Amino acid sequence: MAKFPEAEAHILNVMVCQKCKARNPKGATRCRKCGYTHLRMKKKGKGGKGGGAGTAAK
Ligand SMILES: [Zn+2]
Repeated sequence: MAKFPEAEAHILNVMVCQKCKARNPKGATRCRKCGYTHLRMKKKGKGGKGGGAGTAAK
């Protein structure tokens, strides 16, 4: 389905700054933009659109 599987994988391997929402490379410990140290992994929207197991009726 995805046109660029590599790009999609890249998106999943990204850390998002919880302060400024900047994307940082996976493994980064601090935001490259604002220096904030609280980064989180950007994960697939589980249960959202495209969710496999779950309620698909809406
Ligand atoms: Zn930041």
